[in-house]
Amino acid sequence: MPAIELIDVRKYYGKGETSVKAVDGVSVTVDNGEFISIVGRSGSGKTTLLDVIGLLMRPTTGTIRIDGEETTRMKDNQRASYRAHKLGFIFQDFNLLDTLNAVENVMLPVRYSGADKKAARKRAMQLLDEVGLADRAQHRPTQMSGGEKQRVSIARSLINSPSIVLGDEPTGNLDSDTAQKLVALMRRANRDYNVTFVVVTHDLELASRTDRILRIKDGHVVSDERVTAASPVTPEHLAEPVSV
Ligand code: ADP
Ligand code: MG
Repeated sequence: MPAIELIDVRKYYGKGETSVKAVDGVSVTVDNGEFISIVGRSGSGKTTLLDVIGLLMRPTTGTIRIDGEETTRMKDNQRASYRAHKLGFIFQDFNLLDTLNAVENVMLPVRYSGADKKAARKRAMQLLDEVGLADRAQHRPTQMSGGEKQRVSIARSLINSPSIVLGDEPTGNLDSDTAQKLVALMRRANRDYNVTFVVVTHDLELASRTDRILRIKDGHVVSDERVTAASPVTPEHLAEPVSV
């Protein structure tokens, strides 16, 4: 069973003359355990596509199956519950709460999934250890570097044992050395926990370490290529000029 199945998904903002066709007929299947990247210039619809996959927004039309279940017709509370149990999120700006320390931030999604708190704290400590931050558990985001903050959010994305983690430019605010380490951490989670990853990125380094690259233009998928040793990613692959 595929992790994600999109059938002719469209998301239009607004109606009539001023309507923006942000996602305009995307059909894609992502296998369980795949690590894929979505690339394309600014405004091409990447974030919108990720948000509809992440059940943060309903598509205008189309079918979205997550682990085989059709999600677009679920009620809001069903979608929220499904999101909490099935999905993890990593954002460019980290989205950590400055009033909470690292371990409390990692535990935040547990509030929505209803998992046992004590077990969750133990798991949160374990995850912080896995991302190399065991000694930072009591530190607040304001006391951490960008790379450390993104490690915390990787740990947070995994706390509910999701089947899919979605990342919107997860390395967008990090220098390339830090970004590389973060990519290695995500790949390890992908392998060790068989979590499917879908990341939107401008980062060639990140894209080249994924299994498959979807290129989006004007809300359409314009290419869908597997990354292999025989077909390494070159800058030409991402040929579309990137403007952030
Ligand atoms: P990307 O992430 O690739 O930069 P987005 O998905 O953010 O692209 O945006 C795709 C298109 O949809 C752009 O033209 C953008 O201006 C438009 N858009 C995004 N969000 C909204 C919104 N909430 N209302 C109206 N238009 C939007
Ligand atoms: Mg975006």
